[in-house]
Amino acid sequence: MIPITTVRFGAEEERRVVEVIRSGSIAQGPVVAELEDRFARMHDARHAIAVNNGTTALIAALQVLDLRPGDEVITSPFTFVATINAILQTGATVRFADIHDTDFGLDATSVAGLISDRTRVIMPVHLYGQMVDMAPLAELATANDLVIVEDSAQSHGARYRGRAAGSFGLGTFSFYATKNITTAEGGMITTDDDALADRLRVLRNQGMRARYEYVTVGNNFRLTDLHAALAIPQLDRYDETVRLRRANAAALTAGLADVPGIRTPATFADRDHVWHQYTVRVTDESATTRDDFPAALAERGVGSGIYYPKLILDYDAYRGRPDVAEDSTPTAATVAAQALSLPVHTELSPEDLDTIIDAVRDVAAGR
Ligand SMILES: *Cc1c(COP(=O)(O)O)cnc(C)c1O
Repeated sequence: MIPITTVRFGAEEERRVVEVIRSGSIAQGPVVAELEDRFARMHDARHAIAVNNGTTALIAALQVLDLRPGDEVITSPFTFVATINAILQTGATVRFADIHDTDFGLDATSVAGLISDRTRVIMPVHLYGQMVDMAPLAELATANDLVIVEDSAQSHGARYRGRAAGSFGLGTFSFYATKNITTAEGGMITTDDDALADRLRVLRNQGMRARYEYVTVGNNFRLTDLHAALAIPQLDRYDETVRLRRANAAALTAGLADVPGIRTPATFADRDHVWHQYTVRVTDESATTRDDFPAALAERGVGSGIYYPKLILDYDAYRGRPDVAEDSTPTAATVAAQALSLPVHTELSPEDLDTIIDAVRDVAAGR
C-alpha cells in the first residue's frame, strides 16, 4: 500500500535528539530558540514564537488581539476544525466567507460582503501548501482596520508574490506528525510586531516575563527542546523536500490532466506551492463517486485522503450556536463534495507515481 503520508527521520534528527537528552535540559531552552530564529528567517518575519501545537498557535495569536464577545472573525468553512475551535475559545464569533474553487482559499468578494463594525480579523487558511490570493484580502484589511491571521498549518515556506506565508499579519504553523515539517506535536507563530511578539512569549509561559513575575493571565503553550531538535534537520533539508514534492505533483498532473471526471490542482505563476497535499476534484463525469473513490484506490494499493469531507456547518456541534453564524457558502459546499487527496510525499518512487496514476484512471473510468 502506498501511504498518503509518511514520517521519516534520519541520522541527523537522532543525533540532535540524543544531544538534548544528554544535555540534561529537555524542556524549552536553546534548541527552541534556535528553531525560532531559523523559522523566522525562513518566513521573512522579525519574530517566530514556538508553541506546543498548531491549535494553540491559533489560540495564542487570537488571544493577544484582545477579542471581545461579539467581535467577528471571518474565515473559511472548508478547513480543519482547529481553525474554528481556536476562534470559539477566544469568545469571538465565527463568520464564514466562500472560497475559490481553484486555490480553495477565501474569496475576497465574499469576505467584503461580511465586513461590518463587528469584524476584527480576517483568517485565511492556506490549504494543501498553497497560499490564498492575499492581495485583495490585504487591501480589505487595510481599508477596514482589520488584522490578518493566516492559518498556515499546511504551508511552511509557501510564497505569494515573493512574500512568505505568515508574513501578512500574524501567521500560525503546525508541526503535527503529518505536516511538511514535524515535531510530532508542535507549532509556531510569526509576526513582525515587537509588542505582539513580546506578549505571545509572556502568554506562552504562564504570563511570566521573569520567573514568578506574573504580568498577565497566561498559559503553558511551551514547546520542548526535545521536539525542536527534530525540526532543525528538516529545515536544513526543506528546499530538497519541496523540490521532491513539486516534482511528484508535476508527474501526477501530467498523468491525470486528461482524465474525465478528475480535475487536477491549479497552480499559479505568482505562488510557490509546497505541496502538503495533492488534491484533485472528482466531478460528476467520474464513474466512481468521490465518496467511493478511496476504497477503490485502496484495492489497487493506493492510499488517499479526504480533507475535508464536510463543511464545519455540516456538523451538529457547530450549528445553532450564537457564536457561529450560519453563512451560506455554495462553492465551498461543492469543493467539500469533490476534494480527494493523493500521495505526493518525498518517499514516492517513479513506479509508485505510475501506480497512483493508473489506479486513478481506472477508478474514474469505472474499470
Ligand atoms: C493541522 C492543522 C491545524 C492544527 O494544528 P495541530 O498542530 O494539529 O494542532 C490547524 N489548521 C489547519 C488548517 C491544519 O491543517
